[in-house]
Amino acid sequence: MTLADIADVPQAAWVVIAALLGLIFGSFVTALSYRLPRGEDFVNARSKCPACGTSLAARDLIPVVSWIFNRARCRVCASVVSVRYPLTEILMAVLFTSAVWHDTRLAELGLLLLSAVIMVTLAIIDLETRRLPMSLLAILALACALLRWFGSGDLAHGLIIGALIAGLGLVTATATRIWLGAPIIGAGDAYALGIAGLALPWAVFDVFLAMAGGLGLALGVGLRVVRGERMFPFAPVMFAALWFSLVFQEQLIGLVAEL
Ligand SMILES: [Zn+2]
Repeated sequence: MTLADIADVPQAAWVVIAALLGLIFGSFVTALSYRLPRGEDFVNARSKCPACGTSLAARDLIPVVSWIFNRARCRVCASVVSVRYPLTEILMAVLFTSAVWHDTRLAELGLLLLSAVIMVTLAIIDLETRRLPMSLLAILALACALLRWFGSGDLAHGLIIGALIAGLGLVTATATRIWLGAPIIGAGDAYALGIAGLALPWAVFDVFLAMAGGLGLALGVGLRVVRGERMFPFAPVMFAALWFSLVFQEQLIGLVAEL
């Protein structure tokens, strides 16, 4: 079943719907990434201003638009609302749009959109707390396993490779913590790498590794030179490379075959 079976509208219409849906899920991602590490209820709780605690009204919750009209401030206490919120909403709109562009089969599309929500939430939580919640990693692993199954079909292969990579990552984390005093990758990063191994066929996994490694190296060196930081969160870089590899999988396989 594809999007065309739901309604016979041009692809462009689906892209617009995906962008709007992405904006809405962008505010959901913001709420989830704020409430989950703090142990707050993220299903029933009303959104509040983190500075003054005032419950936000519907007109404060329109993605991007509210932020612009309120001039990046809370209407009650005038504290600054970070540009991160509208940027998250725009990022989700871009990811949702690229997913619809890539795949119109409903099962795969749904799993891709779920993966986008989880990956961006994980990336934000990692940037803030340097941790990756296991609950979200488990949901992402399940979505990626199903994507592998619907995609290339060789789920058993994916499960074995994914487990091996995660295991290797965990051993590296433990060994470097003992020998060097600090792990070169975190346990959460090891699981995330394993999830990439589960999601991507081997031919694409190479490209993913090169992308994540290259991007990570550039960012790591950049942050060290510019801000003197020695550690940087690897997970957001890895999820960016994973998303790109998932969505452009067929193009990447074609590209690698030509080399
Ligand atoms: Zn306020």
